[in-house]
Amino acid sequence: MEQFIGKSLSKKSVIGPCFIYTKKEIRINDEKIPSEEVEQELLKLQSTLDNAETHYRRFTKDFVEEETSEICEIFNALKMVLKDPKFISKATSEIQDNHHTTEYAVETVLEEYARMIEGISDPYLQQRASDIRDIKIFLLELLSGEFSSQRIPKRPSIVIANDLFVTDLARIGRKNILGIVLENGTFTSHLSIVVKSMGIPLLIECNAILSQIQTDTLSIIDGEEGKLIIDPTQEIIDHIKEIITRNLEMEEYLKQISGDEAITKDGRRIIVAGNAANLDEVENTIKNGGEGIGLFRTELLYTELPSLPTQEALIRIFQKVSQKCQPYDVIIRTLDLGSDKSIPSLPLEKEPNPALGVRGIRLTNDHPELMETMIRAFILANEEKNLKIMVPMISLIEEIQAINLIVMKIKEELNYKDELSIGIMIETPSAAVLSDKFIRYVDFFSIGTNDLTQYVMAADRINPNVSIFHSHFQPSVLRLIREVVINAHKEKKWVGICGEMASNFTSIPILIGLGIDELSLNPEDIPKVKFVVKQLSYQELQGWVENLLTLENPFDIQEQARKKLDEYIEPSKRCFF
Ligand code: PEP
Ligand code: MG
Repeated sequence: MEQFIGKSLSKKSVIGPCFIYTKKEIRINDEKIPSEEVEQELLKLQSTLDNAETHYRRFTKDFVEEETSEICEIFNALKMVLKDPKFISKATSEIQDNHHTTEYAVETVLEEYARMIEGISDPYLQQRASDIRDIKIFLLELLSGEFSSQRIPKRPSIVIANDLFVTDLARIGRKNILGIVLENGTFTSHLSIVVKSMGIPLLIECNAILSQIQTDTLSIIDGEEGKLIIDPTQEIIDHIKEIITRNLEMEEYLKQISGDEAITKDGRRIIVAGNAANLDEVENTIKNGGEGIGLFRTELLYTELPSLPTQEALIRIFQKVSQKCQPYDVIIRTLDLGSDKSIPSLPLEKEPNPALGVRGIRLTNDHPELMETMIRAFILANEEKNLKIMVPMISLIEEIQAINLIVMKIKEELNYKDELSIGIMIETPSAAVLSDKFIRYVDFFSIGTNDLTQYVMAADRINPNVSIFHSHFQPSVLRLIREVVINAHKEKKWVGICGEMASNFTSIPILIGLGIDELSLNPEDIPKVKFVVKQLSYQELQGWVENLLTLENPFDIQEQARKKLDEYIEPSKRCFF
């Protein structure tokens, strides 16, 4: 028996034979072709692109049950590269004008494309670069005949590779993949997104395993411990089988309760909603029992377009989200650009401290037409009357006063008579400290704990060197949350949490004890959070949290909260937390 440590995408474990998936490196011949072969070479390029498209159509059919899933979108994005006019014309020119082979044209044009995109520091575009390499290798394999000779598992197996692309996954086929172990890989890749949405266990960064394992050896991916076990003992097999059965039972149980309301044992109802940035995430929220959308991030609607979206385009998407969520509410956040978020259609001025610069409401105030288009689209899309507006990064009373005036003006202009619910995100210390004032101008608060923690602790949320400061168990952060809730409740208004803290199970007893009314989170975690809320007692937690907030150290607070959680959750059901 041997064990290899890696990083596990989920806590899922699996047992099965392993399959070593390696690919031959394809050598490109850069010899020039004679003029009389150009025509034939151009036909080869076209037929390879057609052939690739036919394969993707089949992959999509084999791999996905739902037409709307994230996987379909990823396959569609891959197919779009094959039709990209710039790619086709450059590759054609390499063959026609420079007399290169089709292989050479595909390799150089797509590699140049990938490198260019890679140079732009945007995680979304990094993925695009990886998609282009995926297509490039696939085309080269089709051209060289490697595609049909590639060895793939013929029975359900744990696939072990250096790295995989989405196309590899599609080629192997869902039914023969029990789990995946990679020597490299990242959790942000398209492969990981697909694997996650299909519930396949994945282990990455498992160093130098390929040379130490043979196909067909019995193996285990232990998701809880984040390791690959080769040739396990009977004792370990029995133990993992027990865990797999327990997890399946828990998954089944969570599915059953996902549609329930999240009511504490002593009767306090908490709204559990989802955070979304696109229609897939909205669908996922509803599928997982989410009661509407507590934070619809609009930035992605702008990121994916070369120019600003029109009012009509915004209306269409807001209407779709609104319809999909009926009868629940959708909180649409106005554009939150600047700092860690940028869009190609609105280049931002370079600032020495972007997180403390012109971002969120400050930026939309500088571009009033952006805000007005959004609000007009929002009002025109609100036929179902379930949309609410939320404004990010507020720090001045004047900012919300100005928004209220814009909304009033547009309502008059459109002759819109119904009430509109407007809230703000509490993300700055100023908004939290002045929450007794802000609450008079709005209908609700939603606390953005990612930014609130960043600004209260003066610790960049994306800088790992200060991650020790960026903890929402910091007593200063928790005390501010308490103030915000007290001030909102005095005015009989509600407070939600839409930062990552709402997905952190250990923080749920604290948030419930503090009197939070709504939790909005990652759609996948909705059933688990509902389950946790249902185990708690609000009144007992109210007293407990008062004592907890007298502690000075975030680690002590976290430990106490963990113990509290364990007190409420029976041991057999703790496997997910
Ligand atoms: C937050 O700051 O907690 C939040 C939810 O907003 P974002 O993560 O989009 O900045
Ligand atoms: Mg924020």
